[in-house]
Amino acid sequence: MKRSRIKTILSEGKIGGKVTLCGWVRTKRESKGIAFIALNDGSMQDTLQLVVSEGTSAFQKISNCNTGAAIKATGVLKDSPAQGQRFEVEVLDIEVYGDADPVKYPLQKKGHTLEFLREIGHLRPRTNTFGAVFRVRNILADAVHNFFQERGFIWIHTPIITASDCEGAGDLFTVTTLDLKNVPRNEGGDIDFSQDFFGKRAYLTVSGQLEAEFLGMSLGNVYAFGPTFRAENSNTTRHLSEFWMIEPEMAFADLRDDMELAEDFFRSLCSRVLEKCEPEIAFLEKYYKNTSAADLRELASKRFSHITYTEAVKELERAKQKFEFPVKLGLDLQSEHERYLTDTVFHGPVIVTDYPADIKAFYMRLNDDGKTVAAMDVLVPKIGEIIGGSQREERLDVLNDRMSRMGIPTENIEWYLDLRRYGSAPHAGFGLGFERLVQYITGMHNIRDVIPCPRAPQTIKF
Ligand code: ATP
Ligand code: MN
Repeated sequence: MKRSRIKTILSEGKIGGKVTLCGWVRTKRESKGIAFIALNDGSMQDTLQLVVSEGTSAFQKISNCNTGAAIKATGVLKDSPAQGQRFEVEVLDIEVYGDADPVKYPLQKKGHTLEFLREIGHLRPRTNTFGAVFRVRNILADAVHNFFQERGFIWIHTPIITASDCEGAGDLFTVTTLDLKNVPRNEGGDIDFSQDFFGKRAYLTVSGQLEAEFLGMSLGNVYAFGPTFRAENSNTTRHLSEFWMIEPEMAFADLRDDMELAEDFFRSLCSRVLEKCEPEIAFLEKYYKNTSAADLRELASKRFSHITYTEAVKELERAKQKFEFPVKLGLDLQSEHERYLTDTVFHGPVIVTDYPADIKAFYMRLNDDGKTVAAMDVLVPKIGEIIGGSQREERLDVLNDRMSRMGIPTENIEWYLDLRRYGSAPHAGFGLGFERLVQYITGMHNIRDVIPCPRAPQTIKF
């Protein structure tokens, strides 16, 4: 079907030009023998006004056309006398593809709550809010590829189904084709996964990092950008059971290089959104007040603050404010602590480095003090952790020692140790949760409102 998108019409259209456009009716009103339709086609935030005069056949066809209807309109582009819009379309012909019942269609009125809209996940993308969020999400995804491609990083595709259960990043979903009514057991009474599809127990991946490491340790600089699954039972506004993760991995790089990459990356994404999503950010600022072009501009130019975990703990101990969870060297930072650092101490993003080895994953490189590891978490205001990264342990003996101390069996990941046996080198990388990024940039309060089909405990509709 030959049609023009509203975004193209508004940027390239010429007065007097003939256009055909398709979309959904946002509102229709009639005044003095003229019908006005505000049409949205998803290409941008704005609607385009269609003007239909009484006496035309088009006018007849829309007599029963309601909010939510899908239509095609052909007409001529005119200067608009109305405020705030450059063009309108004087309609010559119209076709109504599908009307929407004026009583049953749930998006009649404006101003539904986000909770209600979550119940109608299949219709919410038609609202201004979700149109804005999903367009920003698109620009961010594109900007991710752009950033890495321009720097010569190779996009790799790490597996979604995996046999390694030792990443320690979160609880795993098991993937099985065993007959759940008649599960085979071995002599000890445990489930016999040798009879399962892969001949051993398999899971949905919680991170592509281990695989990204061997690709990084051959292709030099790589990044993964794909779905990730965690069966953690956390009903928070920043956790999903299925989310997308961006995981760059660089050979011949240390923690400093890793931090620099994370900062450049973040700044570049903010700039791109400013450049491409001005109307969306303006809309979200107006209605939700948790983001703004000014904030993004500042982020795009600002360097992040840096602090070691040990110094951060001292900072928290000095705090006048009371925390719910204890602050003590050796304990992990809770989100209230993270927020204190970003919101009260640094007033912006901060990178916390050199966490105690005991609270971080086995693959993080042991520092010379023998107690801390070369890890970094990037914390941002309101959300807390958005990036987790580290320099990886490249020394076979240190890694072996650490794994045995943590009780991690090596049999499933001998291949991972091979990378330390053959041509080992310093390397580093990080993981950025894509939805947390979209959440931060759009200012949406709940992570379930930045992905089309959120998965969370007890939640898998649509
Ligand atoms: P958190 O402590 O916030 O649960 P984490 O320490 O489990 O995070 P990592 O394992 O380091 O996180 O994962 C890297 C990144 O993936 C995080 O910085 C975050 O942006 C994102 N992430 C982790 N878990 C989730 C989740 N359940 N939903 C959405 N994003 C997530
Ligand atoms: Mn987690």
